[in-house]
Amino acid sequence: MTNLEDGDRQYVWHPSTQHMRDRHPLGIVRGEGAYIVDESGRRILDAISSWWVTLHGHSHPKIAKAIADQAAKLEHVMFGGFTHEPAVQLAERLISLLPGGFGKVFYSDNGTTAVEVALKMAIQYWRNRGEKRDRFLCFEGGYHGDCFGAMSVGNGCKLHTVFDAFLFSVDGFPYPETWDGDEERAVKESRVLSQIEEHLKKHHADTAALIIEPLIQGSGGMRMCSVEFLQKLESLAKSFGILSIYDEAMTGFGRTGQHFACTHTGAPPDIICLAKGLTGGFLPLAATVCRNEIYDAFLGDSMDCALFHGHSYTANPLGCAAALASMELLLTEATQARIARIGAVHVEGLGVLMKTGRVEKARHYGTVAAVNLTDAMGYGSNASVRLRERFLDRGVLIRPIGAVVYLLPPYCISDRELMDAYELIAEEIRN
Ligand SMILES: *Cc1c(COP(=O)(O)O)cnc(C)c1O
Repeated sequence: MTNLEDGDRQYVWHPSTQHMRDRHPLGIVRGEGAYIVDESGRRILDAISSWWVTLHGHSHPKIAKAIADQAAKLEHVMFGGFTHEPAVQLAERLISLLPGGFGKVFYSDNGTTAVEVALKMAIQYWRNRGEKRDRFLCFEGGYHGDCFGAMSVGNGCKLHTVFDAFLFSVDGFPYPETWDGDEERAVKESRVLSQIEEHLKKHHADTAALIIEPLIQGSGGMRMCSVEFLQKLESLAKSFGILSIYDEAMTGFGRTGQHFACTHTGAPPDIICLAKGLTGGFLPLAATVCRNEIYDAFLGDSMDCALFHGHSYTANPLGCAAALASMELLLTEATQARIARIGAVHVEGLGVLMKTGRVEKARHYGTVAAVNLTDAMGYGSNASVRLRERFLDRGVLIRPIGAVVYLLPPYCISDRELMDAYELIAEEIRN
C-alpha cells in the first residue's frame, strides 16, 4: 500500500490547518469502536468522537449494514417533488424524540446548513406575516458554522475575523459561562438577562430571533451555562414575541445526558438545528426542525412565500437510513446506561485533573467534560498544538481548544479507557 501521507501532502488541503506549521495529517485506515487505526497499525483512542460526530463508535456494524441495505435499494432521489421511506420515518422519529411542540423537519447537509436554514426560516417567517425584522440576538463565543450567515451569528467566537466586513451585524450578549462551584453564577446570569430584557424592550419588533448553543458552547471552548438560564432566556423570548433557535448540532442525541439540551428545560425553542451525531457520525446530514406555526406561515397560493432553500443531496436516503439505525442504538437501555456511566466517570476524572493544580473551571454535562489549563494558550497557538501532538503521540485523540482540554467520547468507550485518558492528561499537563 502506498503511503497515505505523501499523496495527501501533494494533493490535499485540510480544514482549519496551517500546513506550513502543523504536523502532517495522520493517515487512518480503519475505525473500530472507540479507536481509529493508523497506517502503521497503531490504535488511537478517539476521546473526542472525531469532531463530535461519532456516537456509538467507529464503523458500528448495525449502522454500516443499514447504509449498505439502503444503498442496494435506493441510493438517492431528488427531494423536490419526491420523497422516500427513510426520510419520512426519520422525520417521524425525530419529532417523537424531541420535546413536544415540533411539527416539521427540513433536511440539509451539515450543521452550518441547518443554521442557514433556521436563519432564513426566521427572517422569512416574519416577512410572510408582513413584518420586516432584521436583527438577530446571539451570544459572544458562539459558533454556528463556517458559511456567511452562520459566521455572522457566530461572530463572537473570533475564528474568522478576516471575513468580518462581509458579515451582517448582530446583537451580541455575554454567554454566562459557569463551572462546578461557581459562586457568581446567579449574578452573571441575571446581569445578562436584564441586559437582554432592556435590549428587547427597545428592539423586539425588529428582532427576528435569538440563536444559542444551549447548555454548551462547543467551539467557543466547551463553555457551559445553566438550565435555569436557558429557561429564563426562553421565557424572555416568548414574552417579547421573538423566535428562539437552538443550535444543537453538537448537544443533540444524548451528549448532555438527555436526548437534547432542550429536553432539560421543559421549554423547547421554536426552531432546533441538528447535525453531527444525527447519523451516528457516518454521513453528513442535518435537520432544522420547527413548530407547525412556522411552517404554516410559508403556505400560500404563490411561490413568493415558500422557503427557497435546497441542496442536491437533501434528505439523502443513505444518511436517513444511518440516522434511523443510530437512533435505534441510542434508545437501547445499554446505550442509555453507558451515557450515565460516562457522566459518572467524568466527575471522577475531573477530580483527578483538579488535583494537578494546573487546571480550573471543571465542568460537565452528561458525556461532555472540560477544564481550562491555568497556563494561558491561545486558540491554534503553538503551545496548544504541541499539547495536542503530545496526546496523540501517547495514543489518544484529544484536541484542546486553546487552553481548554475537553473529553467528548463515543458512548461505547469503557470506564477504564476514559479514566486512562484522564490519567494521561494529568501526566502531560504536569510536565
Ligand atoms: C459543528 C457545529 C456547527 C457546524 O456544523 P458542520 O457540520 O461542521 O457544518 C454548527 N453549530 C454548532 C453548535 C456546531 O458545534
